[in-house]
Amino acid sequence: MDRLAALPNTYKLVRRDARTNRTIVQLPNGASFGGEVLAICAGPCSVESREQIEATAQAVAASGANVLRGGAFKPRTSPYAFQGLGAEGLKLLRDAGDRFGMSVVTEVLDPRDVALVARHADMLQIGTRNMQNFTLLREVGDVGKPVLLKRGLSATIEEWLLAAEYLLVAGNAEVVLCERGVRSFDSATRNLLDLAAVPLVHSLSHLPVIVDPSHGTGLAKLVAPMAAAGLAAGADGLLVEVHPDPPAAASDGPQSLTFEQFKSLMGRLHAVAAAAGRQLPSATLAA
Ligand code: PEP
Ligand code: MN
Repeated sequence: MDRLAALPNTYKLVRRDARTNRTIVQLPNGASFGGEVLAICAGPCSVESREQIEATAQAVAASGANVLRGGAFKPRTSPYAFQGLGAEGLKLLRDAGDRFGMSVVTEVLDPRDVALVARHADMLQIGTRNMQNFTLLREVGDVGKPVLLKRGLSATIEEWLLAAEYLLVAGNAEVVLCERGVRSFDSATRNLLDLAAVPLVHSLSHLPVIVDPSHGTGLAKLVAPMAAAGLAAGADGLLVEVHPDPPAAASDGPQSLTFEQFKSLMGRLHAVAAAAGRQLPSATLAA
């Protein structure tokens, strides 16, 4: 028996045998994580303007994404980098999601902003730098909205599952895990995308797992192959950064896909999804 599975009392609520069925997390527009139809979350790293988020929402919805992402509160390594539009960004994201029939996910950085973010978002993202912010986990555990919990920069699988356990203990069972790569010795890619985590977490927990090939590689040209690999590994969805003009993006331009690149990626993923026994959401003909 592997080491993690041999620790029966470590995770009480997230462990696979705590539930008969796997958890399926539903969003208001019908998108779900863990069902036969995959959740495809797409959008810019940061919400930058009404035009930018609306154009992106329209493009990704037309290509088949069913969840709109966009950061309003940004966790930037440098205090001099763009920190996000804050409350204004939340409104722009909400409006764009509503206009194109998409549910929205956005990051909450600070326990004091949980209520504000939850008023606008359908799903709250806890970013990699906050995976072990236990105060934030407890606060989000109480919020009554689904949570996207990214794996910490150098978190072990055990630490990640225990962070999810905090959310379940606090009363929030609607948790989706997101593998987004971990720190490694090699700077050739931004992070080392750990795709073995997908089947491993599925064997240890009933929670859905999605893959983020954008932060996982840091390079736009690697996003399509690693998105396909993530679905082949059994991921319940993807999170992909898309921007109208990646070189001009306020954050994460080098890993962001253009609208055309995203469309072509979605075209290629149908066969991979089918091989994995899943389906892509059907594209909406956006207004
Ligand atoms: C993001 O989704 O833009 C983000 C900051 O992600 P992570 O926490 O994985 O770095
Ligand atoms: Mn980003």
